[in-house]
Formats: sequence, C-alpha cells, structure tokens
Amino acid sequence: SIVRGKMKENVDISLIVPMYNEQEVIDMFFDKIQKVMKSINSYTYEILCVDDGSKDNTLDILKKYAKQDERIKIISFSKNFHKEQALYAGLEHCAGRVAIPIDADLQDPPELILKFIEKWEEGYDVVYGIREDRKSDTFLKRLSAIFFYKTYNFIAEDPIPYNTGDFRLITRKVIDAIKTIKEKKIFMKGIFSWVGFKSIGIPYKRPERKLGRTKWNYWRLWNFSLDGITSTTTLPLRIWTYIGFLLSILSFFYVLFIVFRTLIFGIELPGYASLISCVLFLGGVQLLVLGVFGEYIGRILIEVKNRPLYIIDERINFDK
Ligand code: UDP
Ligand code: MG
Repeated sequence: SIVRGKMKENVDISLIVPMYNEQEVIDMFFDKIQKVMKSINSYTYEILCVDDGSKDNTLDILKKYAKQDERIKIISFSKNFHKEQALYAGLEHCAGRVAIPIDADLQDPPELILKFIEKWEEGYDVVYGIREDRKSDTFLKRLSAIFFYKTYNFIAEDPIPYNTGDFRLITRKVIDAIKTIKEKKIFMKGIFSWVGFKSIGIPYKRPERKLGRTKWNYWRLWNFSLDGITSTTTLPLRIWTYIGFLLSILSFFYVLFIVFRTLIFGIELPGYASLISCVLFLGGVQLLVLGVFGEYIGRILIEVKNRPLYIIDERINFDK
C-alpha cells in the first residue's frame, strides 16, 4: 500500500529511474549502473524503476531483471502519467537514506553518483548535477532552455539553478519534505528548489541519449514550462494590476486631451483609425488577461478535483 512510504529506510541508496518506452536502453543502463554501484559496494542500494505506462516491452524486460535481483524494484503505472509523477511515485516508495533520480537513457552519467556521494558524506542534503555542456541538445532546445530558466528565475521566488535537471542526490530529510507536498500537477524542479536544504551543484557534460528517442517535443516542453511557472508563482496574475493601472492613467490623460481639444476646436468626426486601434488593443489585452486567469483557474480545478497523482498497476519486489 501507499503507506510503504512511511517505512524505515533499509538501504543506503535508492536510484529512481522513470522509464517510458525505453526498451532499447534498459540493458545498457543496468550494465552501466550495476558497475558503478559495485564500485561503491560499502553502500547498499535499490534500483526503483517506475514504468510510466510504456507501450513497448519495457515492463517485460524490467521484470526479467527484477526476477534475478530483488534490489531491482518496479512500480508500473496504469498509463502514461509523465515523468514528474513517476519521480514522485519513486520518492514515495523508496526506502533509501538518500534518493537519486536518474534518467534511463544514460544522459545522466552514472559515474557522477560517486561525486554525489562524496558531497553527501561531506554533509550536503542536496547534490545536483549541472549540465555544463549541452552540445548534445539541439540549438533550439538550448535556446528555449535559456529562455525558460531566465523567465522562471525572474518571476519565481525560489530560483532554480541554471541547467539542472532532476539528476541529483537528496537525503531522507529532503525526500520526506517533498512527500508532504500533495500537488496534483507537480513540477519537480520547482519543488526541489522550494524545499531548500544545504545544496551544492556539480558540473558535468551531458552526453547524448544512447538509444531510443526523446519523449519531449517542443509543444510538450512549452506546456511543461507554463505548468512550471503557474505552479510556482502568481506574478503573472498580479502583473495585470499594474498594467491595468498604467493603462488607466494613460487613458485618463488621453480623455482629458480629447475633451479639451473638442471644447477648443469643436467636434472632429474622423477618428476611425484611433478608435479601432484602441478597441483592438484593449480587446487583445483583455483576452490575454482572461487567458492568464484561465491558466490559474485550470490549475485550481485540477487541485480541487483531488485525484491521485498516479495509478499503480503492479508493484514488484516490494513485499518480502
Ligand atoms: N520519461 C517518463 N515519462 C514520460 C517521458 C519521459 O518516465 O512521459 C522518462 C524517460 O524514460 C527517461 C527520462 O524520463 O528516463 C527522460 O526522458 P527523455 O530522455 O525523453 O528526456 P530528455 O533527456 O530528452 O529531456
Ligand atoms: Mg534523455
């Protein structure tokens, strides 16, 4: 049951691996990760794979691994709930003293875990990887990433460090803090920085995806960014107070100007151009504001509906 999250930690390290249609990389992933974990064999570990409703053979392959090694645990979702939910489920179910979310495609280099652990031993609660080199990403993706971090950090109260993904080590304190957050549309990056704790970043070169393909197209990234922003800050709502105020002042002076001009020079009929410009401009602004309101109302609806964040189909290697 879900209360498993309350269990005592019984391993040192929980690797949390969200997987959505990753059949091509699984073998490579386990091969690499097990080598790394072997090199630090003074620590016990579990590999918690969250199958995010894969439509390929991901789950079957995972089950084979889980049969051979009970440190490999599986949670499979009833459908694709997205990576954020997969990570959250992983955090809720992991038993480690620390958790390390890591992508299945080896874009989060497993060797970095060694450095994460060094920092953990030094006393840090959050050790995050910083993607120093994003040459493996397309130009457009890098550009949109810069744009996102800039906008987000400009308006959000808790900035997220530039070019950090979900790849990081967090201690039990942080895991438990995150578990108290019950948002339905959860934005992990924002949550990670919101909870705080003693943090440090470690730069690394982000390699290319080994096999398979990315699940993120630009439309999905765009919506992801919007969710990220509306989940963290209400500034986009507040800003209209000021814009509205400014527009009212400008309008007031313009009205004074028109009134006096009419009093002095008489009625002047032509004025279609200025009239239509005002109508269109203000109409546009109003629709824009309605759109922003709509974003937030949509979020309220999602939270109020209070559905679970994800639905689990199967759990493997959890109960002994
Ligand atoms: N992923 C997931 N659910 C999704 C999309 C992605 O669990 O709906 C997983 C995916 O299997 C991978 C990780 O999230 O392990 C990162 O995905 P991807 O490599 O496609 O993202 P990118 O590296 O291109 O940002
Ligand atoms: Mg990737």
